Amino acid sequence: MEHQKLPEMGRAEDDILGQLKSFADNDPNYRDGRTWSLVYHLDDAHDAFIAKAYSAFSSANGLNPATFQSLKRMESEIISTMAGLLHGGPDTCGVVTAGGTESCLMAVKTYRDMARKQRKVTRPNMILPKTAHVAWFKAAEYFGVKARILPMTAEYATDISRLKRMINAGTVMILGSAPEYPHGTIDPIAEMGAIAQSKGISLHIDACVGGMILPFMERNGVDLPDWDFRIPGVTSISADLHKYGYAAKGASTILYRNLELLKHQMFVCQDWPGGVFASPALLGTRPGGAYAAAWAVMQKLGVEGYCRLARDTCDAVDKLKTGIAAIDGLRVLGHPQGPLLAYGSTDPKLNIYAVADQLEQAGWSINRVQNPDGIHCMVTAKHLHVADEYLADLAQAVATARAHPELAKTGGAATYGMMAHVPLRGMVKSKVLDVFAEMYRAGGGALTLNDSKPPNLMERGMARYVQWKTRRG
Ligand SMILES: *Cc1c(COP(=O)(O)O)cnc(C)c1O
Repeated sequence: MEHQKLPEMGRAEDDILGQLKSFADNDPNYRDGRTWSLVYHLDDAHDAFIAKAYSAFSSANGLNPATFQSLKRMESEIISTMAGLLHGGPDTCGVVTAGGTESCLMAVKTYRDMARKQRKVTRPNMILPKTAHVAWFKAAEYFGVKARILPMTAEYATDISRLKRMINAGTVMILGSAPEYPHGTIDPIAEMGAIAQSKGISLHIDACVGGMILPFMERNGVDLPDWDFRIPGVTSISADLHKYGYAAKGASTILYRNLELLKHQMFVCQDWPGGVFASPALLGTRPGGAYAAAWAVMQKLGVEGYCRLARDTCDAVDKLKTGIAAIDGLRVLGHPQGPLLAYGSTDPKLNIYAVADQLEQAGWSINRVQNPDGIHCMVTAKHLHVADEYLADLAQAVATARAHPELAKTGGAATYGMMAHVPLRGMVKSKVLDVFAEMYRAGGGALTLNDSKPPNLMERGMARYVQWKTRRG
């Protein structure tokens, strides 16, 4: 196999930009609101504005906050604005990161190191709701902090009845989500805060998805429980700007109640031959363009703009909730309070993943959840204009999946059903790793997660088992 070569001579800019544009031909159609995850898009004019702000600082580097004072100013103003929105106190401080995952990873590192220093904890654990974002399980693995799991109630909320008893000498933090990603439920933060405070354990709130919309929903008069720094036990919050902040990708925040906490996040190396080094978060070079774009978008939208977008988003969510409830055999999972929801099947004869396949055929980009199986909708303001069309296609998809039960055994329905229900989870993990890794094989690898290899004996047996389970409901 020959590797790709750099062009011997540089190419003309127009030619390159044209080719780049063509690369996007098969990308999800987010401009028309056909994607239900990954993208938070307003319109092309907004993207153009972001690009201008981004490009003005695309070479600037926030690595050393003392060097580019412009970036430090933007970072300070973004953090201070967030501290205000999230009802922080006078000492609330924080750092702009490159994304929600970086923010979550940093919280785990911070509390692990704090417990190590203050309480000599050598075998750390943290208490996570079952519905915690996958970034927290990544952090557990990366940083060697054992995840202890709070189960879900029958209605997919976090069951905190055992929380107090689960805290032990090695517990470095507790997590609550506002809202959680799988079903859009806000965890019982006030109760968790009281327990955390009584036990002297840090409580982080993952508001990566909620941080830039819940405050504006509240301003719009939506009745929400308190979940932010107003709860005394809350010690830190992560909130993304590149989701409902409508900023360019690569911008999130992590806020701490005070600098004493944030200090444990920082890294200092005084002996490096490259110079004395200090860094506030995971990245080395920090992208100035992302800071500038995030700062600019906050100034452009303001409270009025974010409230308007939150209102459209909530209207779209309400439309979807009502429309889904009206389709026989479907129900929304749990009680989502934020901008997202998931729905599943109430009828053993209706396979929700087969419905998902049908929606994809109708041109929607669909995200699937599991345990219970469902279809996920990360709803943005843009979806208000397509909600009716989506619901009509959904009704049609349900009718088709009902009329053709064999669809559950083919395509995505079969693959996702298998991945969700094979009881040997270790086997699923190694299979997913194999197939996923193929996408990174030298030369570009596979373009999809579809597995082309014929199933081995064990896999065939598992497929039969899953089909049998599915038939039994
Ligand atoms: C999106 C999300 C994250 C991770 O954020 P990324 O920006 O995708 O890294 C973490 N927690 C929650 C609740 C999220 O929705």
